[in-house]
Amino acid sequence: MGPDQKFNPLVANLLRACYLTRMQKDIHPAYYPNASIKCACGKTYTIGSTKEKIEVEICAACHPFFTGQEKLIDAAGRVEKFKAKRARAAATAAKRKK
Ligand SMILES: [Zn+2]
Repeated sequence: MGPDQKFNPLVANLLRACYLTRMQKDIHPAYYPNASIKCACGKTYTIGSTKEKIEVEICAACHPFFTGQEKLIDAAGRVEKFKAKRARAAATAAKRKK
């Protein structure tokens, strides 16, 4: 065994660090710093999230607590929910065809 093949704790630590970095990359979900939140009322927000796109039925801009228009918003939320359901069904059907 030559001097180059000697156990080097620095190299060992470096390899360990590389291994851990790769491990964590595999474990942690993708992070989107500019993820968009779309509300049924039409308002959009940008936040950091592990989901690229988020759709909500109610937000601070349309919640009845802030607006007092409870019935109107409830109807809008249902329409959006139905549309989203149809869109998902269409996407699934398209995937199956491939
Ligand atoms: Zn809203």
